[in-house]
Amino acid sequence: MPGKADLAGDLRLARRSVLVEVNAHIRVAAERLAQASSVSSVWEFMCECGAADCRAYVRLTLAQYDAFALHDRRILADGHGDRSRPPALRPKDRVLARGRPAVFVKLWGDGAVVRFDDEPLAPKVVPLGQLRPLADTERAEAP
Ligand SMILES: [Zn+2]
Repeated sequence: MPGKADLAGDLRLARRSVLVEVNAHIRVAAERLAQASSVSSVWEFMCECGAADCRAYVRLTLAQYDAFALHDRRILADGHGDRSRPPALRPKDRVLARGRPAVFVKLWGDGAVVRFDDEPLAPKVVPLGQLRPLADTERAEAP
């Protein structure tokens, strides 16, 4: 039974994963607009701290956004977020292991950030020992 702190952490992680996906969509839309016209080369991305009351934006060029995404760094407004918290899952993260039904995994510290297929918006941090690596045949099928 998860405690209150675990639940708050899970919710924050879930919000963060949604924000990461929203920012990825902003990036795609921004690139289309930039090609279609001479609109501003600076775009507003959402702060990925995951706090329930955060509505902050971070102004970045597409190149700056890509640098954050490439290095899996969170986009954070000044003073927002705790960098010791696990990273959010990004759309490009691949299935590396399976637990119950199936999981989306990113290694973090001694464990992994895991997104179960039956709870896609509630990533959890799980010790590596609880996961089994994908077999080569499963790896080929991974999305
Ligand atoms: Zn924030």
